[in-house]
Amino acid sequence: AEEVGGGDKEVVREYFNNSGFQRWKKIYGETDDVNKVQRDIRLGHSKTVENVMAMLTDEGPLKGVTVCDAGCGTGSLAIPLAKEGAIVLATDISAAMVAEAKKQAEEQLSADSEGAGPVMPKFEVKDLESLNGKYDTVVCLDVLIHYPQSKADGMIAHLASLAEKRLILSFAPKTFYYDLLKRVGELFPGPSKATRAYLHAEADVERALQKVGWKIRKRGLTTTQFYFARLVEAVPA
Ligand code: SAM
Repeated sequence: AEEVGGGDKEVVREYFNNSGFQRWKKIYGETDDVNKVQRDIRLGHSKTVENVMAMLTDEGPLKGVTVCDAGCGTGSLAIPLAKEGAIVLATDISAAMVAEAKKQAEEQLSADSEGAGPVMPKFEVKDLESLNGKYDTVVCLDVLIHYPQSKADGMIAHLASLAEKRLILSFAPKTFYYDLLKRVGELFPGPSKATRAYLHAEADVERALQKVGWKIRKRGLTTTQFYFARLVEAVPA
């Protein structure tokens, strides 16, 4: 696909409000109407979410911890975080995604008879560049794939500026470039192929973090047949 100058973000928004929403809602859901590739991506993504939950809870209980989930999709992470007692702000550039995440959270998070229970995440339609405030933890999963490296540095710097204690990012690592290249067609089928997938070298992400005074403390990697995600947890250096 052609590189889409400054219009990338509009293309991404449009995609995730329409065909991309339908496609990813299915992948991130539990229904049986997925093909083999989609099922594989579902599995890989759920492993990433599990790894993130493990990284987060390793450092202590999440009760009362403030978390910003930037690019929350259908709430795959925001909901388990809320179940652990975190105070979650979940945002996404796509209004369709945010509406779905909210619906899922309302179905899955219910207060007990005493009115106690998880705090419902706050959901907002917002691109991550417009996020402000301070959070103990900022998480941004599988969003960097929509950012060329030239824009990734600024995006990482902005997310780090919102985080007080840690920043967790996942991205498709460039080491799997050739593998992914073969499969990108499967990831973005049809007209929405215009939505490019950008892979990132781990060293580039690390450099972007270092530039703003952060260092990587933990790393994880999820690979299935069609899904590759490097996971990093960064803390102030
Ligand atoms: N983080 C979620 C997860 O792991 O389940 C969703 C990942 S999905 C592949 C990518 C999400 O990033 C989409 O919901 C999309 O709308 C969102 N997104 C892309 N660019 C964004 C931006 N600039 N600001 C906020 N969200 C963005």
